[in-house]
Amino acid sequence: KKEKIEEVLNEIKEKNIKFCLLQFLSIEGTLKSIGINSNRIEEVLYSGEGFDGSSITGYGRLEESDMVAVPDPNTFGIIPWTNEKETDGRFICDIYNPDGTRFEGDPRYILQRTCLKAKKMGYILKVAPELEFFLLKQNGNDVPKATDTRGYFSDDAANQDHAIRKEIALNAEKFPFLEVETVHHEVARSQHEIDIRYNEVLHMADACMTMKMVIKATAAKHGYLATFMPKPWANHNGSGMHVHQSLWSIEKGENVFYDPNDPNKISDILRYFIGGQLKHAHSMTAILNSWPNSYKRLVPGYEAPTLIAWGFKNRSMLIRVPNFFEKASAARMEIRSPDPAGNIYLQFAALLNAGLDGIENKIIPPKPVEVNLFKISKDERKKMGVEELPESLGEALSHMRHSTFTRDMLGEVAYKAYSDSKMKENQLYNTQVSEWELNRYSTVL
Ligand code: GLU
Ligand code: MG
Ligand code: MG
Repeated sequence: KKEKIEEVLNEIKEKNIKFCLLQFLSIEGTLKSIGINSNRIEEVLYSGEGFDGSSITGYGRLEESDMVAVPDPNTFGIIPWTNEKETDGRFICDIYNPDGTRFEGDPRYILQRTCLKAKKMGYILKVAPELEFFLLKQNGNDVPKATDTRGYFSDDAANQDHAIRKEIALNAEKFPFLEVETVHHEVARSQHEIDIRYNEVLHMADACMTMKMVIKATAAKHGYLATFMPKPWANHNGSGMHVHQSLWSIEKGENVFYDPNDPNKISDILRYFIGGQLKHAHSMTAILNSWPNSYKRLVPGYEAPTLIAWGFKNRSMLIRVPNFFEKASAARMEIRSPDPAGNIYLQFAALLNAGLDGIENKIIPPKPVEVNLFKISKDERKKMGVEELPESLGEALSHMRHSTFTRDMLGEVAYKAYSDSKMKENQLYNTQVSEWELNRYSTVL
């Protein structure tokens, strides 16, 4: 670590970087940032920066709210959109207690703990997210509006869409462990997608956190409001974040999801991994889909999953295994329910944790489904072992409350902070009365 710190300190000096941002996520996944004068950065890299956790959800505890943010030197990047002559540096932080122990409620630590569990079993998870988002325009405090009526893969004459997506990608690649593979317009109006090349799960969580910041900042520079809100409009596709996952043997450096002797080229380990994620789908949904609005996306008809099942081709299901791998390294599964509005560290930790449980307990998933599940009756589906994803945040939270599985992964501190915050949000949401309701119900005789 010392070597890396020295390297970063040199870079800060050489490039005359005056300020550095220390970043981490609140338990809900919102970005937190402290600006540090670079003349203090050496000390901060070694000893961390103290802060008051009580005003940040997830970090305030009754007995003690002093926290310490310790920058991870491997995450150092230069923020490319700041004034060229006076760029800022930025670090992602690990959060410690004042006594030097790790703070158990730090989302990054929760993912690191889960990675350690995988490592002890001999594995490392690699993931690739497909990040969808909307670029809207907002006039003052007006409701944000769509800015185009284009659809999937469409281009615009002025080439503005591509220019802004490209700028996002190029800005993003200035940060470590972040490589963009493709950018394109998505199905809904004003909707875009950026696909990041697969990488180890902790690097990817850092990369996603960075990517969301880059998208927001680059869009703002062009006068757009970028949003990761899952479902801005009722009758249009929402934004999801499909996560492609493959598991690698640390010892052999090989993708253990691949089996050349299987007709579908998939291994039993992959089957168990799927088994685990299907088994724990209910209890982890409150993390994968973390806002009341998330559940407006998880409805039939908009390419988002509603049924807890898996298959090879059908895109209406929770998990899909692309059944043609170009090579062993490409063997993977894709989970389709997560959305880009959540806390990425908790989302990846939940997925890995559930998959590992599948391996540990050899959980065999139900048969892959190859029929259109929406064309058969609910009873028929039940017989096939296919259940439904929670329909609301309230339902998802109650699943999380009643199963200790995801709670154990979070630990008591994070579980309490997360569920308290989400229950409050849900309560707030549930007590709103919308214009739609007024129109529909006020005139009923
Ligand atoms: N936007 C869709 C969703 O809500 C996904 C579309 C796709 O990339 O297949 O999940
Ligand atoms: Mg997409
Ligand atoms: Mg996909």
